[in-house]
Amino acid sequence: MAGMMQHWELRVSGLIDFAAREHGAQEIVSRVADGTVVRTNWAGVRNDALRMVQALRRLGLAPGDRVATLAMNHARHLVSWYGATGAGCVLHTINPRLFDDQLEFIVNHAEDRVMLYDRAFQPIIDRMKPHWPTIEHYICFDAETAAQESAFDQCLGAEDGDATWTSGDERDPCMLCYTSGTTGDPKGVLYEHRSTMLHTLAVVAPSALNLEARSVMLPVVPMFHANSWGIPFACAATGAKLVFSQVNDPAWWVGLSNAENVTHFAGVPTIWFGLLKYLDETGEKMSGVRHGFTGGAAMPRSIVERLMREGMRVVHAWGMTETSPFGTSNYEKPGWDDLSFDEQVSLRTMQGYGIYGSEVRIVDLDDPATVLPRDGTSAGALQVRGHWTVNRYLKADADATDADGWFATGDVAVMHPDGAMQLTDRTKDVIKSGGEWISSVELENAAVGHPAVAEAAAIGVPHPRWDERPLLVVVCETGQAVAAEELRAFLADKVAKWWLPDAIEFVDEIPHTGTGKISKKDLRKQFADYRLPDAAT
Ligand code: ADP
Repeated sequence: MAGMMQHWELRVSGLIDFAAREHGAQEIVSRVADGTVVRTNWAGVRNDALRMVQALRRLGLAPGDRVATLAMNHARHLVSWYGATGAGCVLHTINPRLFDDQLEFIVNHAEDRVMLYDRAFQPIIDRMKPHWPTIEHYICFDAETAAQESAFDQCLGAEDGDATWTSGDERDPCMLCYTSGTTGDPKGVLYEHRSTMLHTLAVVAPSALNLEARSVMLPVVPMFHANSWGIPFACAATGAKLVFSQVNDPAWWVGLSNAENVTHFAGVPTIWFGLLKYLDETGEKMSGVRHGFTGGAAMPRSIVERLMREGMRVVHAWGMTETSPFGTSNYEKPGWDDLSFDEQVSLRTMQGYGIYGSEVRIVDLDDPATVLPRDGTSAGALQVRGHWTVNRYLKADADATDADGWFATGDVAVMHPDGAMQLTDRTKDVIKSGGEWISSVELENAAVGHPAVAEAAAIGVPHPRWDERPLLVVVCETGQAVAAEELRAFLADKVAKWWLPDAIEFVDEIPHTGTGKISKKDLRKQFADYRLPDAAT
């Protein structure tokens, strides 16, 4: 017997229809590159998106064609998300910080036909144009001066918005994002309308983004990376107000937060470091923010504690481009209020629990067929599967998962008996000393807890007796210094004794990937010939 309820394809256009219908006047505020604050609302975004649908059709784009963006966060970029997907096209967000060879590879691999971009990235466009033969139309989001009309506005201005969304199957593709490719070429993750909608419906919940119509969200997570954590969709699904800062500047975030009554703020740990540093230096406050979201890289305990002391609900999520990106989220389980403050900080520093639709487990590092227990001590390779986990990369010949749908994340984690997941490393970065694993991430987190340390990275270096021993590479805060011995003493009560780094090297800069994460690969190269001072330790 078939079910007898209505069937509506889960399409992203349904989100913007809802937001415009029920929350049409809810504002979308952008502080754009020239410093001015521009306002629109959900009804305005819908109307502009429909005009973009008409413009794309006029340019000859068909459903399935790729429309690329090279842009920071602002309302025009948001319009393009709904406009391109509403025309049935695939919106391909590109990270402007990628290296030229990666930019060349992904645009050609995706066969993008249109490139929408911020004027700030004109040098990239000028440089890359000869290498991007598939792009037929370059459309700049912003004009040279505020008095001029931008190419994007002209494009939309020629249309009346009297159009309908492209309809189709919910499994049609809608968004495309490439992983940064720390190994090999970048890989394209092709999100579907259905996976995006299910992800959206899950992450609006209190256990993830905790959004409602009264929420005001400032996502500093870029719209060009991992779907900005799904925030632009989740805000439409709830009618929340969105506030964008086109320029990454703590002064802008704080100014916008206070002027627009921001309640929700999302950023990777580096964003939080920059924000707190700014607040400390200026004495300014950002007191309205009640929900702070972090993820994308390990968040040091010291920062979690500081934010919690300021009364913020810190939600720490784990995910990746391949998981749309929410995989786990750190929410309160029953009994939370009975825990001590310190215990709460410890839990918040972990990456949290599975949310409905995304399942995680750990398996033996050398034998993936052996599933490891949630015992709080066994460290294993983290696997994930679910409604919004990748199945196969774009144009790949084989699935990226095993027969049961499990995707190997490349992360190493411990699962606690209550289900809390704690990331300890990347499989490629673990340090193996005397047959035991040392978590480079925990060492780094402990090190950045020292006030003089701005950034730290631990890598394994060869050791005749122990196979590998940790070397800690440290960048000090400007104008500050700490002696290696003092730092070792500081770490002594924070990590196991045998984890203490055998050597600490101070450098001016640690290499980063295109997505701003520490590049252990480059760091290992840099220290390839490194010999520990006392290899007999
Ligand atoms: P990339 O393109 O660099 O792989 P992703 O955003 O997909 O960018 O990166 C995903 C990776 O980021 C994860 O596999 C994990 O190693 C790391 N990561 C994500 N969230 C967290 C977190 N909360 N804590 C620690 N590491 C994280």
